[in-house]
Amino acid sequence: MITIEEALERILAYVNVLPAEDKHPLEALGQVLDEDITASFDIPPLDNTSMDGYAVRAADTAGATESTPRELRVIGEVAAGYVYDGEVRSGDAVRIMTGAPIPRGADGVVPFEETDEPFDRAHSQTRGVAATVRIFKEAKPGANIRPAGQDVRAGDVVVQRGSALRPQEIGVIASVGRDRVRVIRRPIVAVLSTGDELLEPGEPRDGARIYDANAYSVAALVQRSGGVPKLLGIAKDTVEALTTKIHEGFDADMLVTSAGVSKGDYDIVKDVLAREGEVAFWTVAVKPGKPLAFGAFEKDGRRIPHIGLPGNPVSSMVAFELFGRPAILKMLGKTDYRRPIVRAIAEDRIENRGDPRVYLARCIVTERDGCYYARLTGEQGSGILTSMVRANALTLIPANVDIVEPGEEIDVMMIDWSRGEELGSYLADDTTGR
Ligand code: AMP
Ligand code: MG
Repeated sequence: MITIEEALERILAYVNVLPAEDKHPLEALGQVLDEDITASFDIPPLDNTSMDGYAVRAADTAGATESTPRELRVIGEVAAGYVYDGEVRSGDAVRIMTGAPIPRGADGVVPFEETDEPFDRAHSQTRGVAATVRIFKEAKPGANIRPAGQDVRAGDVVVQRGSALRPQEIGVIASVGRDRVRVIRRPIVAVLSTGDELLEPGEPRDGARIYDANAYSVAALVQRSGGVPKLLGIAKDTVEALTTKIHEGFDADMLVTSAGVSKGDYDIVKDVLAREGEVAFWTVAVKPGKPLAFGAFEKDGRRIPHIGLPGNPVSSMVAFELFGRPAILKMLGKTDYRRPIVRAIAEDRIENRGDPRVYLARCIVTERDGCYYARLTGEQGSGILTSMVRANALTLIPANVDIVEPGEEIDVMMIDWSRGEELGSYLADDTTGR
């Protein structure tokens, strides 16, 4: 038996960062930048106003109050996107809109609210420019002016190579005028289910057979991890069927299969995988997810790593979480593969019965008064896929622990960071009687 960490390390040793591609920033959400994004100009490009109001010489407003206003001559108007081509001299004011460049000569902006320009006129479409404006409050030099380059200076690196693109990075990239970015390409992950019992969803039901759940949960996990799933469908439990399907996955960056790695049908999968590439069958010290196949195929000088997940639907999802997701993240150029782990107070008794494997029980983690609490989702059999539907976390009960009593602290791995409250309704008629 090998540990989770050991298995992961061995798998990652076979996985490489993929080459980069150029694409539109909006298509690159979540991908990792393979270049520094540099600004070639200041943002904002010019000193501009942060308020609607009047651009003035601050000195002209000295001592202004409601009872001792200063009256200025309105010489024009300027909106965002335009440059006022005159100059503000002593006694002048220019009506100015948020974002508009500060006219030459002006060094402060008085907001409409501090003038006699009525609010309704400031916001009407049909306003005219009055001949004069009365200023009710003194403006300090620089008042309401955003200096050029306040956000970004020409030459600045605004997003660094290696950053994963979130909406804010994409916005910053657009703000420097770029409509293409160089990012590590997304891995294509071929997903294959094996088993004579499997039916494709949409096919008519047949008593002894079950619908293929794994291809769908795993393909969705691939997608959520940032990869592009390529569904290969279902391979029957024959050497020919399995061989054909595996070949169809050779143009992908990784192949993920499910089932056929437990004792019963170990041999046929083992034979096929061994003949097509190198393969190891591992017993990983984790519950669920213990039997795992890992190997690699060689095609046209390219190496395609293969993860053989266990067949039970919970096991295959958990094993993908532990091993498939980090492999995808590495191919994507990411460097942190960990899920958040938090300390939580167990609300249920959790039995690991001294099992030498780490126990990843499905649980719901909620937060109350600054503490995290974990309760089990009920039946924990590795065939009970609905136990995943209720879960937002997995327990990390260390190997060899016998029993965790309610009230004890445990580590939990968040598989999604929803607060867990919305999962509560599932517990209303839960078999645990909570
Ligand atoms: P195996 O590893 O082939 O022995 O499969 C273990 C268990 O998982 C069996 O009960 C299978 O029927 C079930 N199983 C295998 N593949 C799938 C799948 N794609 N969807 C749902 N259940 C599956
Ligand atoms: Mg099978």
